[in-house]
Amino acid sequence: MIPPEKIDEILSSTDIAALISRYVTLKPSGKNLKGLCPFHNEKTPSFLVHPDKGFYKCFGCGEGGGAIQFLMKIENLDFVEAVKILAEQTGVNIVTTDSERKALSEKEVLRKLMKTSVLYYKELFLNSPLGKDARAYLKKRDIDIKTAAVFDLGFAPESGDFLARHLAGRKFKYEDMERAGVVRHRGNNYYDYFFDRLIFPIADSQGRHIGMGGRGMSDDAVPKYLNTPQTSLFSKAHVLYGLHLAKQAIRHEEEVYVVEGYMDVIGLYGAGIQNAVASMGTSLTEEQAKGIARYTNRVIFAYDSDTAGEAATVRGIEIFEKAGLQVKIMSLPAGEDPDSIIRKKGS
Ligand SMILES: [Zn+2]
Repeated sequence: MIPPEKIDEILSSTDIAALISRYVTLKPSGKNLKGLCPFHNEKTPSFLVHPDKGFYKCFGCGEGGGAIQFLMKIENLDFVEAVKILAEQTGVNIVTTDSERKALSEKEVLRKLMKTSVLYYKELFLNSPLGKDARAYLKKRDIDIKTAAVFDLGFAPESGDFLARHLAGRKFKYEDMERAGVVRHRGNNYYDYFFDRLIFPIADSQGRHIGMGGRGMSDDAVPKYLNTPQTSLFSKAHVLYGLHLAKQAIRHEEEVYVVEGYMDVIGLYGAGIQNAVASMGTSLTEEQAKGIARYTNRVIFAYDSDTAGEAATVRGIEIFEKAGLQVKIMSLPAGEDPDSIIRKKGS
């Protein structure tokens, strides 16, 4: 329960015009600001923001409210989630007492646990001798350490319970580690879910870590790519890899590249193309389409020519089109990386 006075404090410290400007281009209109409504399609602006009064109103579709309602609607969050994001952004502390801490939802514990895990693996990747092969692998793929750090890449060492022990040392419970999908048990023993893998943390559109993907470092790793299982935080069907880092660029470029894998997104980012996300498997979903539609309605699929023709991909593209997105397909010749092709297209 967040006290009403905390909510007032958050609202009075939030600049609603700045918040909405991250999603909508606003132009002055008298004392107010005006732009194209992000909640319905329109060509003439009927979306008004009143910075003094702290609210917005669309005269086209009727949407309106304050900063919290805006964030809930545009990022598809519930009330408490939206308040928490604004609290973070404004520096208002909403968790103070032990009883409040106890009341933290499972989700929050898992988010913290996930963040701790990501930072632990990242540290091993960047600074530990254990991460040497993973660093060499990225170098071979022309990805510099700076870009790897932006994506919080990590390394899970071979065998054992490195992460489980690290988390236990931070007072996380084994059940929560398992619930987050980073540890599993056999009998009474707990083991790390990932071992000897390059770790790709997966975040939601707010940049909160919700899952991980791991690429086996040895040639005979099975499977080559492994994801955390479905958890209360992580559902593969809802996520687009890299969206939290790409959303600004997507809005700016007014289009998004959808590529197949983590490495494609990271390669493009390193090459200066930051409006790319990965679909994490070929079955595209309505939720992913909605996730994209918040930022643009122009989508370019850059898939290799085999995948582009697959039935699952074709179906996914239909789902995207049904959601009102304009879809183009850029099928990549075998053996070509998206970044080399997209770079050529851009120059
Ligand atoms: Zn509207």
